[in-house]
Amino acid sequence: MRATRQGDAVCAALTETDAFTSAQELHALLRSRGAGVGLTTVYRHLQVLVDRGEVDMIRRDDGETVYRRCATEAHHHHLVCRLCGRTVEIAGPEIEAWTAAIADAEGFVDVEHTVEIYGTCAGCAAASAAS
Ligand SMILES: [Zn+2]
Ligand SMILES: [Zn+2]
Ligand SMILES: [Zn+2]
Repeated sequence: MRATRQGDAVCAALTETDAFTSAQELHALLRSRGAGVGLTTVYRHLQVLVDRGEVDMIRRDDGETVYRRCATEAHHHHLVCRLCGRTVEIAGPEIEAWTAAIADAEGFVDVEHTVEIYGTCAGCAAASAAS
């Protein structure tokens, strides 16, 4: 596969899912479809997409770096299911106001923040209650 086709394949695989996905998981998915793409290549394309702001990257609470193509490129936060990775994009006006007030009070400028909320989604909670 050519570099651009590989990049498109990585991008398309990410677009299909709501979940934050690791490079290994994406790689396995692409391989299962017969795409001859190496893990290093997947990482490289993911980095390009992150640099362009097209893909969000977070560190899951188990330390794994995971990626997601979100609907919005505007600043937002994530509510992430720790079991299946299902993710909801959330706005946090209270968090924006709170961080701005704190930075202002301490005389900080050019501040930024990352806030992700991890939990068990309704589907996973129902599945574990049933078993
Ligand atoms: Zn996002
Ligand atoms: Zn879940
Ligand atoms: Zn925020």
